[in-house]
This record gives sequence, structure tokens and C-alpha cells, in this order.
Amino acid sequence: MKVITRFAPSPTGYLHIGGARTALFNYLFAKKNNGKYLVRIEDTDIKRSTPEAVKAIHEGLDWLKIKSSEEIVYQSRQKNKHIDIAYKLLESHFAYKCYLNPDELNTLRVKSRENGVPIKSPWRDKVINDNSKDFVIRLKMPVTGITTINDMVQGDVSINNEILDDMIILRSDKTPTYMLSSVVDDFNMGITHIIRGDDHFNNAFRQIQIIKYLNWDIPVYAHIPLIHGPDGTKLSKRHGATNVYDYHKMGYTYEAMCNYLLRLGWSTDNELDYDISNAKTLFALNKINKSPAKFDIKKLNNINSKYLNSMDIDKIYELIVTSSELNLSLKQELKLKLLIPEFLKRINVFTEILDDIEWIINDDFVVKSEEHLIKLRNDKILCQEIAESLMHCKWSKEEIDTSLKEYLSKKSLKFNQIGPLLRTALTGKINSPDIITIIYVLGCEICLKRLNYNY
Ligand code: GLU
Repeated sequence: MKVITRFAPSPTGYLHIGGARTALFNYLFAKKNNGKYLVRIEDTDIKRSTPEAVKAIHEGLDWLKIKSSEEIVYQSRQKNKHIDIAYKLLESHFAYKCYLNPDELNTLRVKSRENGVPIKSPWRDKVINDNSKDFVIRLKMPVTGITTINDMVQGDVSINNEILDDMIILRSDKTPTYMLSSVVDDFNMGITHIIRGDDHFNNAFRQIQIIKYLNWDIPVYAHIPLIHGPDGTKLSKRHGATNVYDYHKMGYTYEAMCNYLLRLGWSTDNELDYDISNAKTLFALNKINKSPAKFDIKKLNNINSKYLNSMDIDKIYELIVTSSELNLSLKQELKLKLLIPEFLKRINVFTEILDDIEWIINDDFVVKSEEHLIKLRNDKILCQEIAESLMHCKWSKEEIDTSLKEYLSKKSLKFNQIGPLLRTALTGKINSPDIITIIYVLGCEICLKRLNYNY
């Protein structure tokens, strides 16, 4: 059997962390089994679906390189196929026309709530065809027996059929419901494995009845526990960025994000397995955790920093300039590239380097913070003396280091007595990467200019 999985987001909001993880698991499972991974946009809720959300879903999936093996399916365009199936179920008496008006339905709802039983319409067993009246088509749920789902993550779970209500599959305006559309599309797309959030587990018990009535193959289900925030509640806006693509804008790499998404629910003993290239050959459903994972930004930062440190400087440079739309000269590019390895020792996201970009690329950079200016004015002589010692130095990191050491010993000073001052004069900050590298990369002329600047 060829494995075919799908990711079926509703474009009613951004592609969030949970959705991205579902997409990734479906993608990896298909890759591992030399199968196909498909994307279906479930855009049948016209009021809530927006083109912006469709765009955000594509943007997020493209960034993560979770590409559909075939053209993307739009559920709204399959509508007629869904309607046909609703009528087929009707003809074979697995469904019925229900003519309850809103008031009657409300009365039934109240009764059902009071008695703790599902709604059963009085039209269930009547064969009446009155096309002059509004009707919905409901599925005739079995009322006895049990339904068992052999879920790859949750195990075998059974329910008593008597708790199932006769769900609507076609509304009175002749639009099919999600419960029907999703099943029909899965069948038409040849989906063999349904991997999705466990918030859909209840739906599976109802959707499977349609599949059984139609004598279709039952797909393999894997319902993954949802992701929680650090406080243990379901991950939401309160816990930070909701749009997965925002993490790219914040300076995370797609490799780190995929690695982290994989950790959110999948376990393996070998750290290297979480790398997307390895996971493509290893991913298995039986290693998905049964309990919810907690989203932890510190862990993501840690992973991102590791990936950044293993990447080519040219690639990091590209990420920085494209994310900020910087247009650098060759000279500026060279300086930035020479400094990137120093920054990598201290940053989690590549965009952090942008906080320092001004002193790196702007030869005319001057210190602006009042607090720092006071210090530079007070220690003006010291700055000038350091400039003097650098002036005679041959421009290599070793020579710069020796010159500074000689100056310190001549003045009986310790490095930490001039370090912050040097950093402030050259970068406008007291925290910066290795000062010798900074002096070397900025070059003699700029260092002297900044150290001798008359503040
Ligand atoms: N469209 C549904 C959602 O976004 C997913 C349906 C499914 O995976 O079956 O939650």
C-alpha cells in the first residue's frame, strides 16, 4: 500500500505551531514510507476563511520546506462531490431528510441536554419527500453496539454508539458540512493515514460511520496530543507568536524550527535524529508521545543557536541581509562576515546581529547615548593614548593584542580598566564581541577616528 498523508488546515487564521507540527509529521511519515504528502485547504467556511490566512499557511509551509507532493486541493472546489455523496447516503437510507424547524430543534436540544441523550430527530424513520420545505440531511448513526478506533497514538479507544447524534451532513442551504467534506476528500485523495491534532479525535468516531456506510477503506488514524504553553494550558496567542512564519522574521532558521517541532511530540534517544534530513528516514508513528508537549522558547533558542553555529557564514549573511532588506557594499559585507563568527558565540537568533549593524557598516558612526558620552568625555585622554598605541601597530590581531598589552603594562592598568571604554568608543555599547576582532575588522583608520572623536 502506498502511503498518502495530508495536512488539511482551515484558513481561518495563521499557520500556528501546532498546525506546522501536524504538517511536519504528515510530511515526514510520507517521506519515510516513500509515499505522498498532500495539502488540502479546508476553505468551506466562507465567513471565516480569508485569503490572508491561505497566504500565511503557504508562507509558513514554504519556509519550513514542507511541500505538497501534488497540486494543493481546495475543499470548496470539491463541493459537488460532497453533495453527491450526501444524496448517495440518502438513497441508501444511511441518511435522512430532517424537516425540523429551529424552534422544534431547540426544544429537542433542551430535552437532550436534560436527559443526557443525543438528539434524535423524529424524521429519522420517516420516508417523506417534501421539497417545498427546508430540510437538512442527517446521517443515521447506529444506536447500538460500539465503535472502536485503533489509533496509532492513543491506542484502541471505544465508544458506545448510543451517544452519537445524527449529525448534519448537508445543510438546508445545500452546503456540505466539514464532517462530510473531509471524509469525501480524504477518500478521493486516496489518504491512507490521517495524522492530526487530538482535538479531532471525537470527530473520528462520527466520520468513520460515513466511511463504513460507503464501504470505503478505513484510514489509519494517529491523533497527536495538542501543544501546551509553559503554564500547561493549550498553546495560544498569550504564549507568544501565533504565526509560525513570524519565527523566521524573528531570526530562527527553518532547520531549527523543524527540529524543535519534531521534539514537540516525537521522542528518540539520539539527538541527531531530530535533524530533518535524518528524520525523513526515521520518523515512525509509534514514537509519538501520548501526553501533550510543552512549548519552551528557551529550548528553541538553544537549538537555533546550535544550527547557526554549524552554518556557513555566507548563508547566515544572506539570512541577515534578506530579512532586513539591507543593501551592503562589498566592504560592508566583508566586515559583517568577519564579525559574524564572534556574534554567533552569544546570540540565539540571527536578527540579534541587526542591533549592532550600525557601528559595523557605518564608517561615520558616533556614540549617541548620553550616559556613554559622559564616560567618553571623562576618559578622553585614555582614548587618545590607546589610539596612539594602535596607530603604530601592524594590522594583525596578534599585533593589536601586543600593542594593547604593552600599553596596559606601561600604564600599570588591567584590561578591564580599558575594555568597556574601548567598546563604548568603537561600538557605542559596553557589551560586544571580542574587542581585538572588532578593532581588527573596523581597521586602523576608523578605530583612530572613533577613539579621537571630540564628543
Ligand atoms: N480543517 C481541520 C483543522 O484545521 C482539520 C481537519 C482534519 O485534519 O481532518 O482543524
